[in-house]
Amino acid sequence: MDIKSVGIVGAGQMGNGIAHVMALAGYDVLLNDISEDSLAKAMATMNQNMERQVGRGKISENDKRQALSRIRTTATLTELGSSDLIIEAATERETVKTAIFEDLVPHLKPDTILTSNTSSISITRLASRTDRPEKFMGFHFMNPVPVMQLVELIRGIATDAETFETCKAVVDKLGKTAASAEDFPAFIVNRILMPMINEAVYTLYEGVGSVQSIDSSMKLGANHPMGPLELADFIGLDTCLAIMNVLHDGLADTKYRPCPLLTKYVEAGWLGRKTKRGFYDYRGETPVPTR
Ligand code: NAD
Repeated sequence: MDIKSVGIVGAGQMGNGIAHVMALAGYDVLLNDISEDSLAKAMATMNQNMERQVGRGKISENDKRQALSRIRTTATLTELGSSDLIIEAATERETVKTAIFEDLVPHLKPDTILTSNTSSISITRLASRTDRPEKFMGFHFMNPVPVMQLVELIRGIATDAETFETCKAVVDKLGKTAASAEDFPAFIVNRILMPMINEAVYTLYEGVGSVQSIDSSMKLGANHPMGPLELADFIGLDTCLAIMNVLHDGLADTKYRPCPLLTKYVEAGWLGRKTKRGFYDYRGETPVPTR
């Protein structure tokens, strides 16, 4: 199947990045969010990020103009029904995602492919709530989408070969690299990454190190480009906690127990960069550790 139009649900940090790369690759994009404010912010962010790419000589001013003209926004979810491919990138909560798919299904074309950018939720279970489990799969971008090379493609138990090949062709057209992952909690990247971030939070919780010493230890001692706590703030602490809960529930192993300190930050609404406070406080010129 030849994909021409892409509907994206959720215009947060992932949704706007996905819209950005899809539009630059020549797809017509319809971006949806329940919040008009998120839609306006997403357009401003894409404009800014593409401007930065122009500045670095990665794309031309004309590429930017054309890409932005291919993106439309809507607060009405059902308008996405006419898209060839839908990528759901709303909040990482299963009830939110299933409600979106249930609302969308009656409005879809028969051959529309449905996908989710979920970091951890079962693709097979999400697919089973739709009328087309064979045309459903995980399409998992990394953050920040315009920069990161990998896309994990996750087949549910019923996903057919044509759906996988069609999505793989989209990843190729984006100039990114697909990795195929089986549908088990958190797939590959987050299955490995999140327990490390959670362990960094335990290290902080138990007083083994401060925010600064933990981050610089992993940057200078393990050659990671970002420290684990800095990375957690970048991903969003609510998303990190949601993924740890999925690992803990889905694999029933205490080694995935979310750190109580991570829960506390989320309960405080200190979700990282997106709320300007997490393991660091981003309200001033330079980030200041909060512990
Ligand atoms: P975010 O909080 O930045 O954005 C979520 C957006 O979804 C918000 O704008 C919100 O208004 C919108 N939304 C909520 N309910 C909705 C609904 N019913 N209909 C339409 N829009 C709705 O979150 P994010 O970081 O962009 O994460 C989105 C998805 O991408 C999650 O499933 C997450 O696990 C996944 N993901 C996140 C990362 C990351 O590093 N943050 C990486 C890969 C995948």
